[in-house]
Amino acid sequence: MVQILSLALGASTLLLGALWWRERSLRLKAIAGTELLTQKREAMRRSLEHLAEGVVLLGLEGEVLYANPAAMHLLGTKDLPSTPGRLPLERYTHHRPLIDMVMKTPPANTMRRVFEIETEKDSQHLPMLEVTLAPAGAERRLMVLQELRAEEAVERKRKDFVANASHELKTPTAALVGLLGLIEVVPEEKRGDLLERAKHNAEGLSNMIDDLLALTRAESPEWIPDPQGLSLSAAVTEVTDALKERAEKKGLRLEVQLPAEPKDIYADAFAFRTVLHNLVLNAVVYTMEGQVLVEVKQLENGCTEIRVKDTGPGIDAEILPRIFERFFRGDVVHSRASGGTGLGLALVRHLLRRMGGRISVQSTPGVGTEFMVELPETPRQPLAGAN
Ligand code: ADP
Repeated sequence: MVQILSLALGASTLLLGALWWRERSLRLKAIAGTELLTQKREAMRRSLEHLAEGVVLLGLEGEVLYANPAAMHLLGTKDLPSTPGRLPLERYTHHRPLIDMVMKTPPANTMRRVFEIETEKDSQHLPMLEVTLAPAGAERRLMVLQELRAEEAVERKRKDFVANASHELKTPTAALVGLLGLIEVVPEEKRGDLLERAKHNAEGLSNMIDDLLALTRAESPEWIPDPQGLSLSAAVTEVTDALKERAEKKGLRLEVQLPAEPKDIYADAFAFRTVLHNLVLNAVVYTMEGQVLVEVKQLENGCTEIRVKDTGPGIDAEILPRIFERFFRGDVVHSRASGGTGLGLALVRHLLRRMGGRISVQSTPGVGTEFMVELPETPRQPLAGAN
């Protein structure tokens, strides 16, 4: 009996020992895992500290979870910790439009806007900030702030421009030459198809040349916008009427909502039409089903707001900050097939700057995109962020 008892005692001691050992090694593993995670987080934090771009991690209520030194500098924040433990964004910036953008943009949306920020530090120096707000997982949002340095941007863009333009012109030209060369050698019945493809490439070439010329004109200091009184409803419906057939062919509804009593606007006619045409054209091209809505409002302060909303595929957060770059195409195949040049939005932004206006975009992948154009009462009083 004593033997059985001591055997049982021995076995349970062994079992307890094994359990203790297992728990100990699990605990050690967990500690090592947590340490690795802390190290990774620390390494990431150190990288963010050296970035020139401001990075702010926000909770869903707009509370700041982290802000790197560049963000603090760009926002002009003083005496606040970079990991504040959920202080409201208002403690970091007093700039109401920026706070509104964060609070009003649904967490799943991506938004990009340019702001002229008056900092606490130096109210004479008004940095132009390009702010991109994007979801970062289910519970957080990331805000990236980039200061626009005009001269730097112009110099870099100029260099890229020649290379990009040559490449973009070469692609359809080479295709055109190849196709026309083939026409002589293929059997009669294949010629129609080749000619159709040649025509498509020639149209692409012509669109590219038109957009290049328009962009060059808009960027030239010699081109001065010529504002004049325009009937808002006539200017808007002229653009939408021209695109109605294209929309209807795809089964899309193209609707326009104008103010009940639209007043004339004071703007350059070419610039106004080009801006609206490009936005509505994109909405029609990229939307596969549903509708495109052009909503026009005239505010009491004399500004005009035009929203072009579509039920298209939306724009991914990663590419949204790039869509206004020259030659940038998000969906290369679709853009080329529809005669796109990758220059439309660059032209839109540029023309708006010259008109004293500005543009912002909100997009939810799978739901749709909304571009908002804001125009001042007169280009002589440009809106903040317009230049
Ligand atoms: P493109 O000629 O390629 O349309 P744009 O400069 O007009 O050039 O637009 C740049 C990119 O932005 C497009 O290639 C597309 O990926 C994206 N884009 C623009 N408008 C929309 C929209 N309404 N819906 C979805 N994507 C869009």
